[in-house]
Amino acid sequence: MKRGLLIVVSGPSGCGKGTVLGSIVEEMGLCYSVSATTRSMREGEVDGVNYHYLTEEQFETLIAENKVLEYTTYCGNYYGTLRDEVEERRNNGQDVLLEIEVVGAANVKRLCPDAVLIFIAPPSVGELERRLRKRGTETDDVIASRVAEAEREIHCASQYDYLVVNGALEKAVSDVRSIINAERISASNKDEIISEVLNS
Ligand code: 5GP
Repeated sequence: MKRGLLIVVSGPSGCGKGTVLGSIVEEMGLCYSVSATTRSMREGEVDGVNYHYLTEEQFETLIAENKVLEYTTYCGNYYGTLRDEVEERRNNGQDVLLEIEVVGAANVKRLCPDAVLIFIAPPSVGELERRLRKRGTETDDVIASRVAEAEREIHCASQYDYLVVNGALEKAVSDVRSIINAERISASNKDEIISEVLNS
């Protein structure tokens, strides 16, 4: 069985990555890895769907048991990718999608060099700020700190395999679709593809 891809997507808050991914996950048969976190559940979120919500003690036990592929602390909470969410599915041939921040993405690439890293950037920092203001859900202080964080994250974009600029949504969706299609037939999978062609 051909092992599934590990696709890692990062991008600053407000860059539209959720919208881009939402348009292709089902269509391309991708499987979201549900992360674990110690942050509290937000309204509308569901345990086991958005995250596995854990206590600090539970999270630290999983780390000690080597069940966490990568983890980081973000705004005072643990966030981590569970090994089982990724390994079982990839071994069953499913392509797994991680939506994680830049430190986690770099750790995944170190641990799984075959991971495909995609960074989704806004067309400009000014446009990102405009989108955050348009949401109307955050104070000026929070917007300023998100913009500063976005600038830090955008500096890390050069570590990624692909950089998609989300100016026009349709173009960004089509770029991500093309990346995944290309990776599915990439030369790094050639041995599996050749043996499939010869043996079926
Ligand atoms: P939020 O609290 O808004 O859901 O997520 C905060 C940040 O944590 C986002 O940038 C999100 O991509 C990141 N994140 C979510 N899950 C994981 C994870 O498993 N590992 C890492 N490293 N970051 C994560």
